[in-house]
Amino acid sequence: MCGIVAAIAQRDVAKILIEGLKTLEYRGYDSAGMAVLSSEGAIQHIRRVGKVAALAEAVKQQAPKGGLGIAHTRWATHGQPTEENAHPHLSEDRIAIVHNGIIENHHDVRERLKQLGYQFQSETDTEVIAHLIHHELNHETDLLGAVRRALSQLQGAYAIAVIDKTEPNTLIVAREGSPLVIGL
Ligand code: GLU
Repeated sequence: MCGIVAAIAQRDVAKILIEGLKTLEYRGYDSAGMAVLSSEGAIQHIRRVGKVAALAEAVKQQAPKGGLGIAHTRWATHGQPTEENAHPHLSEDRIAIVHNGIIENHHDVRERLKQLGYQFQSETDTEVIAHLIHHELNHETDLLGAVRRALSQLQGAYAIAVIDKTEPNTLIVAREGSPLVIGL
């Protein structure tokens, strides 16, 4: 069982995300990663196979700055425990997502998205969610609407956290059959 952590704040969140991942380490995992939206509007994306300590070291070196971020410890269900398969997964450098759980109809949705021109970088079921949300932004004006449309097409148990580089003040979370806690 993996862990997801997300934060939105008026200060840099990278440290908060690492602290959050550390508290979830007991659940077991094979890799870890985070994505932070910088004040310049770029998604900074860092992933490592192995321990949260390895990710924390990379985060220390790269020092991502920004008040909106998502992070993950992965327990692989679809695809090997590699850096390419570690979360967060991105779509078109705009959407970033972390996901706990399994998307059962990922194969069919993946084939549909490939025909629409999306190129997959990983073997995970999670990357399907990222591209589907990106695609649904063609039909919706905001991230919340696109996430709702995407999730209505997916089957399985999940908890997700999503960010969009064009919406720096928005953090979307959703769950179906998996636990998710929101704090203020
Ligand atoms: N099914 C996803 C994957 O294989 C998420 C696994 C998890 O819950 O860590 O990447």
